[in-house]
Amino acid sequence: MPPSHAGNAVRLLREVFGYEAFRPGQAEIIDAVMAGDDVLAVMPTGAGKSLCFQIPALLAPGLTVVISPLIALMRDQVSQLRANGVAAAALNSLNSPAEDKQISTALRARAVKLVYVAPERLVRPDTQNLLREAGAWLMAIDEAHCVSQWGHDFRPEYRSLPDLRAACGIRQTLAVTATADAPTRNDIARLLLSDGHRSFLHSFDRPNLRLAMAQRRAGNAQLLARLARHKGQSGIVYAASRRGVDDLAADIGAAGYQALPYHAGMDKDLRSAHQDSFLREDGVVMVATVAFGMGIDKPDVRFVLHANLPSSIEAYYQEIGRAGRDGLPADTLTLYSPGDMQLRRRQIAEADSDEARKRIDHRKLDALIALCETPRCRRQTLLAAFGESAEPCGNCDVCAGAFTLVDGSLMARKAMSAIVRTQGRFSPPHLTKLLKGQTSEAMTRHGHDLLPTFGVGRDLSEEEWRSVFTQIQAAGLVRHDADDRDRLVLSEPGWAVLRGEMNVQIRSTALQGKLRRRGPSMEEGDEASPVQAAVDIASDGQRLSVRQTALLNALKSRRAELARAQRVPAFVIFHDRTLIDMAVRSPRSKAEFAQVHGVGAAKCAQYAADFLAVIKQALAS
Ligand code: ADP
Ligand code: ZN
Repeated sequence: MPPSHAGNAVRLLREVFGYEAFRPGQAEIIDAVMAGDDVLAVMPTGAGKSLCFQIPALLAPGLTVVISPLIALMRDQVSQLRANGVAAAALNSLNSPAEDKQISTALRARAVKLVYVAPERLVRPDTQNLLREAGAWLMAIDEAHCVSQWGHDFRPEYRSLPDLRAACGIRQTLAVTATADAPTRNDIARLLLSDGHRSFLHSFDRPNLRLAMAQRRAGNAQLLARLARHKGQSGIVYAASRRGVDDLAADIGAAGYQALPYHAGMDKDLRSAHQDSFLREDGVVMVATVAFGMGIDKPDVRFVLHANLPSSIEAYYQEIGRAGRDGLPADTLTLYSPGDMQLRRRQIAEADSDEARKRIDHRKLDALIALCETPRCRRQTLLAAFGESAEPCGNCDVCAGAFTLVDGSLMARKAMSAIVRTQGRFSPPHLTKLLKGQTSEAMTRHGHDLLPTFGVGRDLSEEEWRSVFTQIQAAGLVRHDADDRDRLVLSEPGWAVLRGEMNVQIRSTALQGKLRRRGPSMEEGDEASPVQAAVDIASDGQRLSVRQTALLNALKSRRAELARAQRVPAFVIFHDRTLIDMAVRSPRSKAEFAQVHGVGAAKCAQYAADFLAVIKQALAS
């Protein structure tokens, strides 16, 4: 972007949003939009996609049209923008005729910079004319993965956006999504963007999210124990079925939490009332099916727990990604059972989809199971699934020593040798039979009963071999060939292990009794170091002093009063992160107040007096 744009972008970031610097990727994306290109931006949830269209909207003359799939959530986004002094509006079916009229007038007068529009509304010729008159130049498509049938949120209306864009006289598109997989990305580019578009693919790491997965034991004790670390905080508990949601919400409620159910089988009004409480109040535990969450941009969700196996790694990542958008520590725990895995397997097999799709889905499930059973850092395994490499993170259950690891080099060598000797063409169930020395028609037809590997693995059960195959995949020793996805090949580290140059540790879960455990034995899945409650840790990881914590609580009460009076969620006034910074800095003047993270010019003018008074009082006492 020309230097003048770059300088202005930073100025707007400070003055309007109260933030010091761009986060990784933001400046480049804004730059490309301002240069006139169509842009695809893929960034994890919480990375700050919204600013990538909000800043260009403010920099350029004319109107930016934001397409968002869920009208119920546009309102909070518009409130947040207005609280920062930005002229924003939403056009959707929740508006009263009077509101619609008022917004139309403002649009015609070119007094609006950003308008959020539902795809259904954009189809109307009167809307198209209005947007054309209002000088619309940029279409920002939020949750752009909705255009793809491969994704999990397919919305057919998204397919017509390029035509609608033309009808509104809009020249340029910015598509943003948090969905990482390549087929979805290709669909977005093909269906929504021009040939010369630019793509920005951000790292998917979310270091503030603590990752943990464990086998579910009977009852809800594991979930309740985890919730106990998060008393008074907002969070989401996902369950697989409506029935599961209702039962779990009742149990969590009985344990003394404010737990609200949410699923597609509920009355619509009740469901949206529950969503509103979750957004607006502190400390609500939303117990929900995956129907809940898309477009939720509540910044201070402190935990996301899964009572059941998610449907894929992408879905898992998107669901846990709803925690900790404010960058403060947030906690996740995913429970799964062999039953969940079998159910998923059956659902894929019985689904009404073609063979190619089923193969993809089975492979996706394999990758998810590998993540569950991984012997290496959970985050390394997760990022590897998105094609990224990373060091052990120190912020996951595996790094924290939740699982007993044993030397699995010999087993891994046997398994990999079976793969290599069959040219990578056979699946783990066949290879297990081979290792166990069981003949079958296929075994003799391929001559596998004559291989030296035949029968070298009689000491382990089928289940144990299944776990070994899963773990060597999770550890990155074995992968699908890039050019021939049906073929298993060894990676560099895989060959090193096979040649005996390197050893590999695997989890002993399925191998108990066969191997002596090493190290202190812990119950599987229990973590050595629990996460601290996130709210009293400053963003640099420092713990707040007693005095600062007291001030933080006073600031929160003031925020709650203001939010109630204005009928907006507390985060529209200030994010937690802002209040924490405020408690740490204890500003005494308006000028000092303006320096606080997340305080822009509009919020400084509106709230400085209120909050300075709270600080003054706290310091005096
Ligand atoms: P996404 O849409 O990518 O999930 P959002 O746009 O909602 O993420 O941003 C997540 C949070 O991060 C919001 O609270 C936003 O205000 C904040 N944020 C975005 N950019 C910055 C920045 N440069 N500095 C500080 N906070 C930021
Ligand atoms: Zn880790």
